[in-house]
Amino acid sequence: MTTIVDGNAILREIQAEVTRELAAASAASGIVPRIAIVQSGQDPAAALYTRRLSRVFQAAGFTVDVVDIDADASPETARSTLAKLSADPGIQGIQIQTPLPAHLSTSALVDVLDPRKDLDGIHPVNAGLLAQGTPDVVPATPLGGIEILQRHGVAMEGVNAVVVGRSPTVGRPMAMLLLLQHATVTICHTRTRDLGAITQSAEILACAAGRPGLITADMVQPGAAVIDFGVNVVDGKVVGDVVPEAAERAGLFTPMPGGTGPVTNAMLLRNALTLYRRVVGAEQ
Ligand code: NAP
Repeated sequence: MTTIVDGNAILREIQAEVTRELAAASAASGIVPRIAIVQSGQDPAAALYTRRLSRVFQAAGFTVDVVDIDADASPETARSTLAKLSADPGIQGIQIQTPLPAHLSTSALVDVLDPRKDLDGIHPVNAGLLAQGTPDVVPATPLGGIEILQRHGVAMEGVNAVVVGRSPTVGRPMAMLLLLQHATVTICHTRTRDLGAITQSAEILACAAGRPGLITADMVQPGAAVIDFGVNVVDGKVVGDVVPEAAERAGLFTPMPGGTGPVTNAMLLRNALTLYRRVVGAEQ
């Protein structure tokens, strides 16, 4: 029997936990928990995600500033906005929403983000700490992947884990986190030869390619734990990178939607609580 992961149930549980702990920490410190979400451009998916994320944060007790940077703004203007937020003592966490307009790429902005306010672990300091095996703030999406595996008792030590995708926010940190759990990790990308032969060897298969249907059922080892991060819109429907039929072969399977997405939000909440506690001196 395949275990189908209920990401929304995990989110509800973590939301309740963070709400409780944040209320206690803010009552003790008297400091308002406040985060900023920075967005730019007209991308409807990014705007929808910002609204959803704002609701999740507000429900947990955070004040949320949504900061719009004009899509025509110069990189200097965008950097100055971000620098001001970074220097604002009333803000404990900052999330840069992607996609950004092409001339305002994350890499052009990220160095003005204070790594201590880096809600999604994208700053090179945080990426470097993870790469060195001493993580601090970790990107929420891969952190959610590990949370799912741990909650469902999936053994990671010594197992063959395959990650499809090597982006700095999903594939690469997922591989690093699996390595920290002592898995034997293979990273696949567009130059990988015979992807199917490699994915078939995976006891844990994590996909973050953003290619609908890239992983077909025959590419999944029977009994594997399949973590699908892919979010693709096909004919108006949200689908993952792994075909839904692969669930029948898997031991554990994250559906899309309803799998990894809500757990990403849960991990962002946890990261925000950690950053808040540090600022108010109530670190645990
Ligand atoms: P990205 O920056 O576009 O990276 C995609 C990665 O997949 C690249 O490393 C690319 O290889 C690899 N890839 C693409 N096509 C491939 C193929 N045919 N075979 C093997 N590898 C292939 O995307 P991302 O930001 O990592 O996001 C990946 C997916 O996760 C997207 O669908 C995104 O929407 C989704 N996502 C989900 C969540 C969530 O909470 N579930 C959160 C964030 C993102 P190269 O490096 O060789 O180009």
